[in-house]
Amino acid sequence: MNVLVVGRGGREHALCYKFSKDEAVSKLFCAPGNAGIAEHAECVNITETDQKGLIEFAKKNNIALTVIGPEQPLAEGLTDLFLAEGLKVFGPTKKASAIEGSKAFAKELMKKYNIPTAGYETFTNYQEASAYIKKKGAPIVIKADGLAAGKGVVVATTEVDALAAAEDMLEHNRFGRSSAKIVVEDFLDGEEFSFMCLVHGEAIIPLALAQDHKRAYDNDEGPNTGGMGAYSPVRHLPDETEEKAMTDIIQPVVQAMIKEDLPFTGVLYAGLILTEDGPKVIEFNARFGDPETQVVLHRLKSDLATLLLDLLQGKAVKTEWSSDTVVGVVIASEGYPGEYKKEQPLNDLLKADTFFYHAGTKKADTGIVSDGGRVLLAACAGNSVAAAGKQVYQALEAVSTDAFFYRKDIGNKALERS
Ligand code: ATP
Repeated sequence: MNVLVVGRGGREHALCYKFSKDEAVSKLFCAPGNAGIAEHAECVNITETDQKGLIEFAKKNNIALTVIGPEQPLAEGLTDLFLAEGLKVFGPTKKASAIEGSKAFAKELMKKYNIPTAGYETFTNYQEASAYIKKKGAPIVIKADGLAAGKGVVVATTEVDALAAAEDMLEHNRFGRSSAKIVVEDFLDGEEFSFMCLVHGEAIIPLALAQDHKRAYDNDEGPNTGGMGAYSPVRHLPDETEEKAMTDIIQPVVQAMIKEDLPFTGVLYAGLILTEDGPKVIEFNARFGDPETQVVLHRLKSDLATLLLDLLQGKAVKTEWSSDTVVGVVIASEGYPGEYKKEQPLNDLLKADTFFYHAGTKKADTGIVSDGGRVLLAACAGNSVAAAGKQVYQALEAVSTDAFFYRKDIGNKALERS
């Protein structure tokens, strides 16, 4: 079968790498892809938001399965258009992707179906929001309702910061339409982890748990980013955590979406926090997470395209996993998530003795150069977090990483807590 992946990040590289090893895949395309993806797939120059271009391409090239990576095309209804043309696609419809695209929608759904999450209120008016914030006090969390590229959340430790964030979003249109409405949420304390499930209607295939590292610098300091590294599995969480997350959160949400007449197909990504009262939802995403996908799929032994197609066709599906732990470290451009330079050479760095998933990279006359904030993810597998982490860091220390930076403590939490 011919397969098309939509996107250009590390997550899409992981998907393409996995698909390229599936014997059932005869031709693999990625739109638009990046320099690393080009090693496994034919990159086609169509952007993620060019709906017409993607549909024409899929029809012309006899695409049997399309997987949409990023949230934006999903929120814009790319899945709906593929379905309307009779094309097989793994991703939620525009309406179902509201579980990620509108935090207010996700919170209301959880409230209605008793799914554990932080207490909250939504506001469109600053005066009302400020009265609520003053009543609740800090710490408190202010969230833009809509998509804001991972930057629309402020965990405020003081009331002053919370009020400033709410004012910025509601009065100064910090994120345009995305912050015309905000969610003000109770602060939850606990360990965060990511649980991705492949879903089609009632069918749920859990993927292995992973832990992301959202802050830019070591010891969870600095600004929030798209994710600076991850590892999988998360062995130090109590044994019952995954089962509890499945029965208390994933299954009820999947059922809730069906009851709301918004059946979900695609990746249901639950960003969870293990509180004293068990796992609670921080957020849902409607697609593969980045960088979790890279470390999770690195461990998946089953053929992914076959698995997704079987799921879409209602067949029983089982997954097989490597017992290894995979640690993935993101190499970002100096300055990220703020301003950074592009077109920095990567030839030397890429000689490191590790597997690289490419994100912001492209081919230039001089070789491969950077083309974004998050540039690469270095991944190593080992029989423990310590072994995999040691390998990846040794590999990176042996090469020059000028113009880039990476966290030196990916996986440390697992070491401290096990
Ligand atoms: P993403 O880029 O993952 O889509 P997002 O912008 O949708 O991010 P959230 O995942 O909702 O934002 O929040 C970002 C981070 O803020 C979380 O990973 C968590 O560390 C912190 N956070 C969010 N909500 C809470 C909460 N209620 N209590 C404590 N921390 C929180």
